[in-house]
Amino acid sequence: MTGDPGNMSCEEFQAQLSELIGSGEDAAAHPHVQSCERCRALLSDLQTIAEAARQLFPSAEPPDEVWTQIESAINREGK
Ligand SMILES: [Zn+2]
Repeated sequence: MTGDPGNMSCEEFQAQLSELIGSGEDAAAHPHVQSCERCRALLSDLQTIAEAARQLFPSAEPPDEVWTQIESAINREGK
């Protein structure tokens, strides 16, 4: 673990990814995404899910199950 965000592993990045998206950060601007095509593809899938969730629940926080889905999508991708 170097702590350098541009040099983190996919595993480390993906561990933070649902939190990044959930907090409204621009995950696409993350240095790891800039340098990792695989995580870029994963992120675009997750943004599709998050966007759909926002449309389904425009006035409320998405329910926990949305983040569960996102996390299970990440886990599928990581195997
Ligand atoms: Zn990666």
